[in-house]
Amino acid sequence: MADFEYDIIVVGAGHAGCEAASAAARLGSRTLLITMDMNTIGQMSCNPAVGGIAKGQIVREIDAMGGQMGIVTDKSAIQFRMLNMSKGPAMWSPRSQSDRKQFILQWIKTLSSTDNLHIWQDEVVSLLIENQSDNHNNLQPLETTSATRKVAGVVTRLGVEFKARAVILTNGTFLSGLLHFGKTQIQGGRIAEKSSIGLTEQLVALGFSSLRMKTGTPARLDKRSIDFSALQEQPGDATDQKFSFLPEVKRELKQMSCYITYTNPNTHDILRRGLPDSPLYNGQIQSIGPRYCPSIETKIVTFADKDKHQLFLEPEGVDSNEYYVNGFSSSMPWQIQLEALRSVQGLEHCVMYRPGYAIEYDYFDPIQLHPTLETRLVRNLFFAGQINGTTGYEEAAGQGLIAGINAHQNCVGGKPFVLGRDESYIGVLIDDLTHKGVDEPYRMFTSRAEYRVLLRQDNADERLTEKSYQLGLADHNRYCLYESKRSAVERITEHLASTPSTTPAYRSLLEKFGYASSSAHGSLLDMLMRPNINLRDIIVIDSSLQEIVAGLPDRQDEILDSAEINIKYSGYIARERMAAEKLRRLDAIKIPASFNYNDLQSLSTEARQKLTKLKPKNIGEASRIPGVSPNDISVLLVLMGR
Ligand code: FAD
Repeated sequence: MADFEYDIIVVGAGHAGCEAASAAARLGSRTLLITMDMNTIGQMSCNPAVGGIAKGQIVREIDAMGGQMGIVTDKSAIQFRMLNMSKGPAMWSPRSQSDRKQFILQWIKTLSSTDNLHIWQDEVVSLLIENQSDNHNNLQPLETTSATRKVAGVVTRLGVEFKARAVILTNGTFLSGLLHFGKTQIQGGRIAEKSSIGLTEQLVALGFSSLRMKTGTPARLDKRSIDFSALQEQPGDATDQKFSFLPEVKRELKQMSCYITYTNPNTHDILRRGLPDSPLYNGQIQSIGPRYCPSIETKIVTFADKDKHQLFLEPEGVDSNEYYVNGFSSSMPWQIQLEALRSVQGLEHCVMYRPGYAIEYDYFDPIQLHPTLETRLVRNLFFAGQINGTTGYEEAAGQGLIAGINAHQNCVGGKPFVLGRDESYIGVLIDDLTHKGVDEPYRMFTSRAEYRVLLRQDNADERLTEKSYQLGLADHNRYCLYESKRSAVERITEHLASTPSTTPAYRSLLEKFGYASSSAHGSLLDMLMRPNINLRDIIVIDSSLQEIVAGLPDRQDEILDSAEINIKYSGYIARERMAAEKLRRLDAIKIPASFNYNDLQSLSTEARQKLTKLKPKNIGEASRIPGVSPNDISVLLVLMGR
């Protein structure tokens, strides 16, 4: 702690808080990160893995903008895989297993060497609010307020008062957290960590609405008790691929394998016997959990006809004996968990470090936020991460980055920084959250994005680096790297477009791939558009291309892949750009803040109510609100003179 006054205070050092604090400080705001326990900075509450389908794209976007999650993940990676390689490049998704302790250490190193950033270990128990009415019952409901209050700082459990111009809450699963181990209930934000009490009550008194969600985690086993010879080994990819676009960031740790095994009918019988003691089935847990990460007890009930479920045993680190049993999340009594695990092949003699458990916690429907993640009710107060009803480290980190940027922008009078749905998965995420709200844990999927071919993991820098550089977050080195890649791709594409493919060498290449040599026409670019023919095949016989490639710095594969994908998928890319352009035009049609929807009888009742409540800033935003139909949009367009 340097003093008691900051530009920005970030509450919580999970995945959202770390990115938020790092971004705000790097942009130049004097930032204080307050967290309950410095030893758990960047703690992975559940499985020690980052990325995966759609989530991997988010991490690449964070990196492209100068965020830190990709770098921290690469430095702590013990297994890297590019998922979905059998599908088109829009679906390729990087995923990495991390050494849990190294992940924390890398975050601590990063944050403690960031200028303008101070850390204070303590619990925030309340917010300082200016212009707050003494009589909370008189607070106006969300529908009619336009933030007459402003956050001014925080008060901690130790009684310290810190002033700030903006506050970002990233409390994760800690708000009124309650852990369930069978019938045993313990207050806590995570195992062995206390929950955060008091903030929810203050926010509700201010007019925010809060609900409960639940999530769960599996048992951790002792490696020495697992019979690996009975399990199927799953090694990582034998490549040096990684998350960060920065060539100087390398994967440093020894690579480790995961292992696959399966539950069986005996396992299911044991679990079924335990159902009366399961908090999920005896009424103890009422709140909704992540649909796509069900507990093992939910799986045996929902898919009663299945006689096996796949389990992945994932190492927790290079120097750790802990194995995470992915697919076996449970809040059953520990005795049932152990008995069921011991019925699984390879785990007959397994020893537990700790059982799985479930946690219930408070969240705030993100419909109460602007697309900058600032709350609609209190100015300069931002929410990011699991507090907004999302689930996952990557979703949290993406929001943290955007909240950190916008809190800084508010402090310096800058413009709101909002990413479009055609620019990034982070844009899709925040647009969904703030326009549709959530009533179950929100996790990112490629299917949530309508412009998947535009939002690839390989082109996150193309989409976001320049934008972030102009903002001041991506540094000059990162921008130059992006620029050199862009110009190399351009040179390759120009050469291909201007070189005819009708010479004998190219005719024989065509024949090699089963095409008639007489079908040679057009340029090398046309030739590359043919299925099966790859850029590397052309390079082998094209000396000019060989020269271009030889002149490239140490990112040849990255640059060649980028050029090839842009060319091969140019038709799809152009089509999605056109569709996105149409939507952008709707975003450009502004709706005055004072617009009164109540007088418009031609709007449906639902649309009138939702538009009045959410006050979209433009027609594009209005069109993405569930319940506002194309017909309602036509009515609005006519009124706006279009
Ligand atoms: P967190 O990572 O929870 O970090 C919150 C931080 O805030 C912590 O550092 C905490 O100490 C600090 N904090 C909280 N309150 C205060 C306060 N008042 N003052 C100071 N500091 C405070 N995600 C999945 O995608 N799949 C899963 O299967 C899954 N299972 C999970 C199981 C469990 C048991 C838990 C706990 C989480 C699980 N998650 C899962 C969720 C995942 O951990 C979160 O999505 C992610 O960690 C959210 O990041 P965050 O930054 O929002 O919050």
